[in-house]
Amino acid sequence: MKLLSIKECDVFQKKVFIRCDFNVPMDDFGNITDDRRIRSAVSTIKYCLDQECAIILASHFGRPKAGVFSPEDSLSPVARRLHQLLKVDVALASDVIGEDAKARASKLACGEVLLLENLRFEAGETKNDPELSASLAALAEVYINDAFGVSHRSHASVAGITEHFDNAHKAAGFLLLKEIEFFDTLLERPVRPFAAIVGGSKVSGKLEALVNLLPRVDKILIGGGMAFTFLKALGYNIGNSLVEDDLIDEAGKIMLEAKRLGVKFYLPVDVLAAEKFSADSHVRMVSAQEIPDGWMGLDIGHATVELYRVVLEDVQTVLWNGPMGVFEIEKFAKGSNRIAHIVAEMNATTVVGGGDTADLVQRVGVDEEMSFISTGGGASLELLEGKVLPGVKPLMK
Ligand code: AMP
Repeated sequence: MKLLSIKECDVFQKKVFIRCDFNVPMDDFGNITDDRRIRSAVSTIKYCLDQECAIILASHFGRPKAGVFSPEDSLSPVARRLHQLLKVDVALASDVIGEDAKARASKLACGEVLLLENLRFEAGETKNDPELSASLAALAEVYINDAFGVSHRSHASVAGITEHFDNAHKAAGFLLLKEIEFFDTLLERPVRPFAAIVGGSKVSGKLEALVNLLPRVDKILIGGGMAFTFLKALGYNIGNSLVEDDLIDEAGKIMLEAKRLGVKFYLPVDVLAAEKFSADSHVRMVSAQEIPDGWMGLDIGHATVELYRVVLEDVQTVLWNGPMGVFEIEKFAKGSNRIAHIVAEMNATTVVGGGDTADLVQRVGVDEEMSFISTGGGASLELLEGKVLPGVKPLMK
């Protein structure tokens, strides 16, 4: 997939609107607890500074009530962190597209950086409102999208706004380019053997991705809650484990299709079972075929970790999306943590989907060992499903 690149766009001394994804986690005191998304945007912003641009940055943050300013959802902590990272002043407008933003944007000189307030303070943002798109577009001469994490959304600053710029005046920033190129190579030209480790809560959330991945991979390793729908499809008693009864047939079809395609399809052979969904529950390591009635599998077991270690030994490319168990509770995090170490030690291209799996590898402390960690959970999942993202399509050559 070839995208319009910021490198090929004439931005020299232009007024540039950069859509970023600064939707970072914050604690109750407004401290940013993980600034990976802000750091990921720095290369595009610095490139524009070197090109002597006047830079207008925009992002959403949290879920404020649409159309209403709320101080706890202000981007002011982001402006401070950007100032630290860029070492230039970052002015924060007090609104998105009100008098203050418009006045500051029109006066913005080359080399200056302006951050608009949280885009979601405007009710039209998530509705892809044409009026809001037009007003945002009118602020600048060039549009750059570097917000991979929100490129699967048809929002005014991601989708509608692109209609106001011709191909010479819009492009993908470095982060967006990198994300799209990584997933494109992964799905179209992976170095084989290629394995996908797929976990998380439900089959329904990953069904389309599984179907799209099947003909592209050599091996699929299943973990997490979704494993139990597959185990039930094989006729095993899964006790009170998470299951989607309406998808049992579908799960069976996926396993048949894997067999037809010669794709090796692995399910957990043992699980850590608990009497109740709680950190203080009694737990037992049991075979996946012998989960006691009333108990629920909340993590993969030791034998599964060892099996998956062996299965991954010859793999050259691995994609990991979704935890192997209820990793938020330490007692049920060991399977995920150990898989994180195994993937980190692999002599292969290792790609981690965004969201939970990205948090997990960071928590384990092996994030630096991975080849690539996506900044967008939802967006990367849609790429794995084979979709063209609404924020990416208008930037295709
Ligand atoms: P997802 O959003 O589909 O990627 O799922 C992530 C969630 O799956 C995490 O919050 C995990 O706690 C949850 N999860 C993983 N394994 C299990 C399991 N065996 N039973 C219930 N929930 C699980």
